[in-house]
Amino acid sequence: MSQGLVIMSYIVASILFILSLSGLSNQETARKGNYYGMVGMLIAILATVMSDAVTSYTILIFALLIGGSIGVRAALKVEMTQMPELVALMHSLVGLAAVLVGYANFIDESSAFTGIEKTIHELEIYIGILIGAITFSGSIIAFGKLCGKISGKPMLLPGRHLLNLILLLIAVWLGDQFLIEAETGGGVWPLILMTVIALAFGVHMVMAIGGADMPVVVSMLNSYSGWAAAATGFMLSNDLLIVTGALVGSSGAILSYIMCRAMNRHFLSVIAGGFGSSGGGSAEVEGEVQAIDVEETVQLLHDARNIMIIPGYGMAVAQAQHTVHEISKFLVGQHKTVRFGIHPVAGRMPGHMNVLLAEAKVPYDIVFEMDEINEDFPDVDITIVIGANDIVNPSALEDPNSPIAGMPVLECWKGGSTIVLKRSMASGYAGVGNPLFVHDNTRMLFGDANDSLQSVLKRLQG
Ligand code: NDP
Repeated sequence: MSQGLVIMSYIVASILFILSLSGLSNQETARKGNYYGMVGMLIAILATVMSDAVTSYTILIFALLIGGSIGVRAALKVEMTQMPELVALMHSLVGLAAVLVGYANFIDESSAFTGIEKTIHELEIYIGILIGAITFSGSIIAFGKLCGKISGKPMLLPGRHLLNLILLLIAVWLGDQFLIEAETGGGVWPLILMTVIALAFGVHMVMAIGGADMPVVVSMLNSYSGWAAAATGFMLSNDLLIVTGALVGSSGAILSYIMCRAMNRHFLSVIAGGFGSSGGGSAEVEGEVQAIDVEETVQLLHDARNIMIIPGYGMAVAQAQHTVHEISKFLVGQHKTVRFGIHPVAGRMPGHMNVLLAEAKVPYDIVFEMDEINEDFPDVDITIVIGANDIVNPSALEDPNSPIAGMPVLECWKGGSTIVLKRSMASGYAGVGNPLFVHDNTRMLFGDANDSLQSVLKRLQG
């Protein structure tokens, strides 16, 4: 394929990626956004494979087959609840790719750069490996935290801010050494030492971030993976990779900002770590728990006119979204007002609940963001909380010592009755006790959310 055609294809792919991002920003257009992204990626891969830069098709086809089959297998096998871990793992691969491309570029003796161009290329290699290594190790730790293999509690080393500062200064000094030594064909040791430091920094950074702040980490690593891809693009002089990396990097940064705003946190404080570490982290709450059975739940639903449904991570675990949709359809048919209230950090990845509700074909016009409906709870007769915990925890507003203090939550206790569907009194992701469960107007419907909702649906219909 001629170079002109490759550039043309890259421009078309870039436009499709931009359209994809804008499509994904809205539920109605999200499906279209995904198609744009898929077609853009197909064009990008085909143009790259057919470009003159490819010298060996055997290795390429081999790599495509291995990567493609792992991707297909993962897509078929991974449960919806494991998506956040999968995304974290994918981010780590982008980081690893940046590190490997960096080293390959460094040892590539065919490089024709001289003078200032050579220095710039070496700087690209250094920065690419630095960002890639932080993304790689940070994403692996995030993966461990999301799937519960590593504790969600923040690990706080004494003098951690000083430690981070020292690591940063050493990385800058090593960069200087690398550029000096690379002039005379050296530079291996500063590069290796920096890689080790960047890996340690990635581990330390994510280990220090507390459970409830993980959404920010996930979106931040998403952003880092974009910058790592952009750095790879600079190393390989590949414009499409630079544009795509910058798109992912900046959209991830915007998402991190949105997540921080949703949780009422300052971005830098989250990155510095230590949230979720203050006292009051006990899962115990004092008070009497009032259980409810399916029959009483159905009676309350019959009597109610204004109903709010709050889905949380437990709905994803129970895969209860289809049953919830059936129930909401039935209640709407009974001329009741039914709305879904979505907290920005509900579930385990940004937009998790919206994806599940869209999958179950819940109409978009009854799904509301927290800010749109939080004032309305005094008019709500009954709130059904499905497998949610941290996002409806009043201690976020009432207890300044709570690890989730300051995080806005869905204030369902201000309404009529609240029915919480969960299996036990266990705490949520942040590991904090929830006083909502012992509130006067709260009833607990214990059991798997889907089983309970199936019984409710049967009774409602019968
Ligand atoms: P939580 O993790 O706070 O609570 C989920 C609840 O669901 C648990 O208490 C559990 O209780 C219940 N549950 C689990 N399985 C079932 C089931 N089969 N049936 C019924 N209930 C079930 O979830 P929330 O959505 O309220 O809050 C999200 C949390 O995750 C926040 O702390 C957020 O910061 C964090 N987070 C969010 C990310 C994001 O991007 N959205 C990323 C990473 C973390 P029980 O075991 O008793 O059933």
